[in-house]
Amino acid sequence: MTENRTQADATPIVRLRAVSKVYGTYTAIASLDLDILNGEFITFLGPSGSGKTTTLMMLAGFEAPTSGSIEMDGQRIERLPAHKRNIGVVFQNYALFPHMTVRENLSFPLKVRGVARDEITRRVGAALEQVHLGAMGDRRPIQLSGGQQQRVALARAIIFKPKLIVLDEPLGALDKNLREHLQTELKALHRDLGTTMVFVTHDQSEALMLSDRVAVFNKGRIEQIGSPSELYRAPATPFVASFIGENNMLDGEIVGREAGDVVVRFAGGATLRAPSQDWCQTAARVSFNLRPESLRLATDAAKPGCQRVSARVLDTVYLGDQNRVVLEADGIGRLMLKADAENGRALAPGDVVQVEMTVASGRVLTRANNET
Ligand code: ADP
Ligand code: MG
Repeated sequence: MTENRTQADATPIVRLRAVSKVYGTYTAIASLDLDILNGEFITFLGPSGSGKTTTLMMLAGFEAPTSGSIEMDGQRIERLPAHKRNIGVVFQNYALFPHMTVRENLSFPLKVRGVARDEITRRVGAALEQVHLGAMGDRRPIQLSGGQQQRVALARAIIFKPKLIVLDEPLGALDKNLREHLQTELKALHRDLGTTMVFVTHDQSEALMLSDRVAVFNKGRIEQIGSPSELYRAPATPFVASFIGENNMLDGEIVGREAGDVVVRFAGGATLRAPSQDWCQTAARVSFNLRPESLRLATDAAKPGCQRVSARVLDTVYLGDQNRVVLEADGIGRLMLKADAENGRALAPGDVVQVEMTVASGRVLTRANNET
């Protein structure tokens, strides 16, 4: 996986401290601390109902926090109305003004800010070019496709040169091809403008593709925040491990140590090793994680640093460029493996194979306070 280019410097532009949001008796956001770095593209990723929109609304000024503080450029903003926060906003269905042309829609945020007419004309022209809608200025929203409307919404959010742009599932209503196209455009726009962007999605591949950093939301909390590759390679919790990418997750118990590794035993009696971590201690109940692509079918002698298990093929799924092989590993349980198409195709249910993996590719996660 290639790391996304980071233009962020380490200075936070926004600081949320102990921010909570309670609706009646329901705590939507518990106590959230977050720094948003100047210039970064940061994504809130999480399942529906995990608190992404609520957090974004508090940042943009459409919801007031129940408690806690929000600072932007060192100023407390949590009680400022939205239009005084200098934040551009794009929503999934952010209604453009239907009776106005595209040009009028884009002029509006500049007019309310008292920008001179010549300057408005110039900036509207530039914004239309930036979102590739140069010829569409005189149309009304209803005469545009969904993707074009979202481009206008984006142009309207950037046109007053806000310090921060927040986008709540802006591509969620678009079909896959268009969505991927606009992801690429959004990334290019972020590179060109250098403006800090806060993006919300429940789609992990969209988050990985776009972001410098991703904050993974679960039940009103941020479970982990990091670069896409940090989250993929070193998930901190079983939730993050299961939400980002595919994972074999096996319940086991640490039964010993060997050098820098821990030995984990599964209910079926077999053991596997993985690198130890600070918190690891004997008798700890763990989730043992193996990415499907880190497993391979062994055809030759065992390699140093590798471990093997014997397994029975339950099913194979042909996917063109690869095969997914579902296995029952002796004394361990269900494993899913990605094999290259030729390698996996010869297999049939019932076949017995040797599965090999490096010790380094295993990752143990604590189950102590996270039984999801
Ligand atoms: P997400 O954007 O991650 O899907 P939301 O931030 O919209 O999640 O919602 C988080 C939780 O807060 C959900 O359980 C939702 O039902 C609840 N919630 C959001 N807005 C309100 C509201 N105005 N009144 C009551 N509950 C709300
Ligand atoms: Mg939402």
